[in-house]
Amino acid sequence: MTMERIHNFSAGPGTLPRPVLEEARDEMLVYKTAGASIMEISHRSAEYTAVADAARQHFKDLLGLDDDWQILFLQGGASLQFYQTALNFLPAGRTADYVDTGEWSSKAIQQGQFVGTVNVAASSEETGYDHVPPQASWVHSENPAYVHVTSNNTIYGTRMTWDPDVPAPLICDASSDFLARPLDMNRYSLIYAGAQKNIGPAGVTVVLVRSSFMERANPNVPTMLDYRVHASKLFNTPPVFAVYMVEKVLRWLKDLGGLVEMERRNDQKARLLYDRLDRTDFYRGTAQTASRSNMNVTFRLPDEAMESAFIAGAKKKGLVGLKGHRSVGGIRASIYNACDRSSVEALIDFMDGFERDA
Ligand code: PMP
Repeated sequence: MTMERIHNFSAGPGTLPRPVLEEARDEMLVYKTAGASIMEISHRSAEYTAVADAARQHFKDLLGLDDDWQILFLQGGASLQFYQTALNFLPAGRTADYVDTGEWSSKAIQQGQFVGTVNVAASSEETGYDHVPPQASWVHSENPAYVHVTSNNTIYGTRMTWDPDVPAPLICDASSDFLARPLDMNRYSLIYAGAQKNIGPAGVTVVLVRSSFMERANPNVPTMLDYRVHASKLFNTPPVFAVYMVEKVLRWLKDLGGLVEMERRNDQKARLLYDRLDRTDFYRGTAQTASRSNMNVTFRLPDEAMESAFIAGAKKKGLVGLKGHRSVGGIRASIYNACDRSSVEALIDFMDGFERDA
């Protein structure tokens, strides 16, 4: 029996493009001329090397990266990057600035504090992380080692709609909106993202880092946490299957028109959903309008009992993954790159019916 695929609103790991899954399925037993799947051959084989090189080239093409950029496929999730960025780039006696826009930013701050001095340049904690503080309100320390931001706040449904222009190297956790829109890469020194929301399956953390920035890195860090080691060689076994899937997702993204087209589609999907939220008072968006995410759309119903009924009723219609993060409750529809507009339309239909019957 084959089951239908659900309308998948999972916050992560999230939905993947169907053509990507189909291609992987077709290659599952034998990958090209390898006589085995990609999971069963050496990470130093010609076949895997070509996959990883192609994935790197897609990043370069999609983002217009110059040769200063290194593209690393690491493990440990974005959570390890919270620590690894600080370990490499926050020297003794210096301060790093962080913009606190939610739980993941707070975790990055905590990890930074294991290493050195942290200045919270701005925070939206007081208003329940319902917005991203405008850049004009950020208060920087004197000569910070770097500024750390979170581009999209997965739990609170807010995002930074601009590429910050800051007085220090900019480090960005882009886990939940990487490659959802074009980026002005001149503004950034390091971008990291766990792949499992927008660019592939769980298991690989993509780190884009400038060689010129790495020159400033702390020379005394353990080998596995040293970016320069990973940039200079294949130090240990990378997550080959995850990288192989990322290559396919990026190729899919390029084929459909790249980041400009992706942003157009994302804005369109988000607008449909936010317009529905705003049409009546029954559904209440939790993010301030100017900071609304086009990846994670968070909202409340009149009470928690209705929210539970909404989630259960949606599931019966094949709309899955809508429960808000356990720390905030409510509803969260994650509409990442690979979430088709037809899924958003199915959700809106369900919302209309649920409100009518309530
Ligand atoms: N940053 C953001 C913005 C996230 O959404 C998440 C995961 N939900 C993380 C970091 C942590 O990622 P990981 O699970 O890959 O460590």
